[in-house]
Amino acid sequence: MLNIGCHLSSSKGFVAMAKNAFTISASTFQFFTRNPQGSKAKDLDLNDIEEFLKIFSDKKIVAHAPYTLNPCSDNPKTAEFAELVFKDDLSRMELIPNNYYNFHPGSHVGQGAKIGIDKIASLLDKIIMPNQTTTILLETMSGKGSEVGATFEELQEIIKQVELPEKIGVCLDTCHVYSAGYDIVNQLDSVLEKFDKIIGLEKLKAIHLNDSKTEFNSHKDRHEQIGKGTIGLDTFVNIINHKKLKHLPFILETPNDLSGWQQEIKLLKSLSK
Ligand code: FE
Ligand code: FE
Ligand code: ZN
Repeated sequence: MLNIGCHLSSSKGFVAMAKNAFTISASTFQFFTRNPQGSKAKDLDLNDIEEFLKIFSDKKIVAHAPYTLNPCSDNPKTAEFAELVFKDDLSRMELIPNNYYNFHPGSHVGQGAKIGIDKIASLLDKIIMPNQTTTILLETMSGKGSEVGATFEELQEIIKQVELPEKIGVCLDTCHVYSAGYDIVNQLDSVLEKFDKIIGLEKLKAIHLNDSKTEFNSHKDRHEQIGKGTIGLDTFVNIINHKKLKHLPFILETPNDLSGWQQEIKLLKSLSK
């Protein structure tokens, strides 16, 4: 059975997110751990979390780190801030154990990818707790500006350098990889073979299901509704039914409101075999 959901607002807490997920027939969801600009997180409501764990326990959910944080910044203050936020987020994640914490590897801002990768890996070594139950996910990026993580090789290099690689996985964003030059429309199998050879498919833990407003290899990051972009519905049908992918959680980050996501979930469920 297709495990699919979307990005939900976390402003009203975990129970509210679970209820919204149920309303649109989602079995998983993603949320920002705090304002996406990376400010202070709200105080946690432990009753809310306890109630949430009672009603939503079967499927893994994905927390998304604020995307404006840059873990490989050349500014020590910026990198330090990313470390503080990640540490705080990860300790909060242990209150909802065994889920995923996804982040954008960051932009090397002219230092070069190699230095960027070294900084990301050493930051991960500082924040990973040996006993944590949360798996940290590196998101595949489109390669806009000086983004790190637009190639499978760069993601693998980060994982290789981390002391506890078993705590790291990858979240594949369909819009990002297509923009980065991986042709999931015409050569899905060969892209997955590449992923398996370079990173290992066992590291693939979640899929961000987004169509794209821009053409193949554009190195842009503009999400589109499912079936209305350059990727197209047929490819999403191939992805959700692919034997190597169909067991994964699929998260929609398409430009939609709740009812739009409800329709996309209904459509994709009807096309899942
Ligand atoms: Fe993301
Ligand atoms: Fe994404
Ligand atoms: Zn994106």
